[in-house]
Amino acid sequence: MPSKLKLYNTLTRKKEVFIPIKKSHVSMYSCGPTVYNYAHIGNLRTYIFNDLLKKSLQFHGYKVDHVMNITDVDDKTIIASQKNGKTLKEFTREYEKIFFQDTDSLNIKKPDHILRATESINDMVKIIKILMNKGYAYKTSDGIYFSINKFKGYGKLAQLEKRKKDKTKERVKNDEYDKENMQDFALWKFYTPEDGNNFWNTEIGKGRPGWHIECSAMSMKHLGNRLDIHTGAVDLIFPHHTNEIAQSEAATGKKFVNYWLHAGFLNVKEGKMSKSLGNVLYLKNIITQGFSPLDYRYMCLTTHYRSALMFSLENLNAAKNSYERLKNICQELKDDKTTNKSYLDKFEKVIEDDLDMPKALQVLWQLLRDKRAKGTYQTIKKMDSVFSLDLLEKPKIHIPDEVKKLVSEREQARKSKNWKLADELRDKINKQGYVISDTDQGPVVKKG
Ligand code: AMP
Ligand code: ZN
Repeated sequence: MPSKLKLYNTLTRKKEVFIPIKKSHVSMYSCGPTVYNYAHIGNLRTYIFNDLLKKSLQFHGYKVDHVMNITDVDDKTIIASQKNGKTLKEFTREYEKIFFQDTDSLNIKKPDHILRATESINDMVKIIKILMNKGYAYKTSDGIYFSINKFKGYGKLAQLEKRKKDKTKERVKNDEYDKENMQDFALWKFYTPEDGNNFWNTEIGKGRPGWHIECSAMSMKHLGNRLDIHTGAVDLIFPHHTNEIAQSEAATGKKFVNYWLHAGFLNVKEGKMSKSLGNVLYLKNIITQGFSPLDYRYMCLTTHYRSALMFSLENLNAAKNSYERLKNICQELKDDKTTNKSYLDKFEKVIEDDLDMPKALQVLWQLLRDKRAKGTYQTIKKMDSVFSLDLLEKPKIHIPDEVKKLVSEREQARKSKNWKLADELRDKINKQGYVISDTDQGPVVKKG
């Protein structure tokens, strides 16, 4: 079956028909979080994009092997852990845990393989050794650097011209650097006392890895030398992904990634949302303002993943209202066990056009407004395998253990036909603020 799925490839700046290396298996790598703080809702937009991409591929019948890394060692994590008086591991594991709580609540499926940088040091050392042997890397007093002039085609992904290469500053040790200039970057940083206990004794010396080599090593470790898809937000095109390509291709001699997909930024009035600008919002901040994580997911779906998304509480509020209306309508649907081919085809078509989620939402709304349409329930179920908005799920209510106990005692009383006790227990349940109704499937408890 020839694929009709088209994806925008940053490498060519074109929408291209997606053809995976293996017929029906897709290898996909996503740059994961740097766990030195909470992920902000801008970061989370990018993880929602990864999830939509993966689920769209699965909707098209592909098996997806999705790998994501956890950056648990770099300049930022080391400095922040020291400030907090914690070991790097203690410190980063806390934020890793919160990251997955956040992504779970956004219905983002966990990647199939999650690799921590600190557990992949040997894989990085292996690549650095190859790069040194092949003459792409050189040693200085403070580290081992990648020589960008040795790698033909450096900067192709970012389309930066060579003339921008900074002649005055030849090397950069920091993980993040001036985005206008191309410089040799650190693969390995030799130990300095500021690193404290954060070092590895390896064949290439005592020290720690640079940020870029982490992703080259972790992606190839699990997915092999050639990947179908690599994702991140646009800020990673240069230098991070540019450097990943240079390291990986110099080491293997093969094309590293066929399709580079980059998500647009989440912006606020003043510009981009970023930790360094101090204008970030975390998921917990919007929850305390009365929004649910899925209100935010819905909001992300209303803008194409490559466009910048302007965040404001008014926009989020509008998304919340639409999402609630949508969910209420879906809750009333009856399952006639059929699907509606015409609407499913429309849905597929817009997904195939570089994952056009705003149009996919329009198809969903059209279907709901079409009073003559058959198979609405099952069709929405299929669409929601991509959207992941829990459209058909009954709202989950939290029932305290105490109430659950009363409900089960009442069931016992009813079974032994002790109606008086059953009624007393019902009263007690009501007093706790819950109502109980008896159905063919057993008792259903709701908030009173
Ligand atoms: P970090 O934890 O800083 O490494 O970033 C995690 C992911 O979030 C990366 O893929 C970044 O490209 C992405 N990202 C950072 N800021 C934003 C933003 N404002 N909007 C969308 N994605 C972002
Ligand atoms: Zn990365």
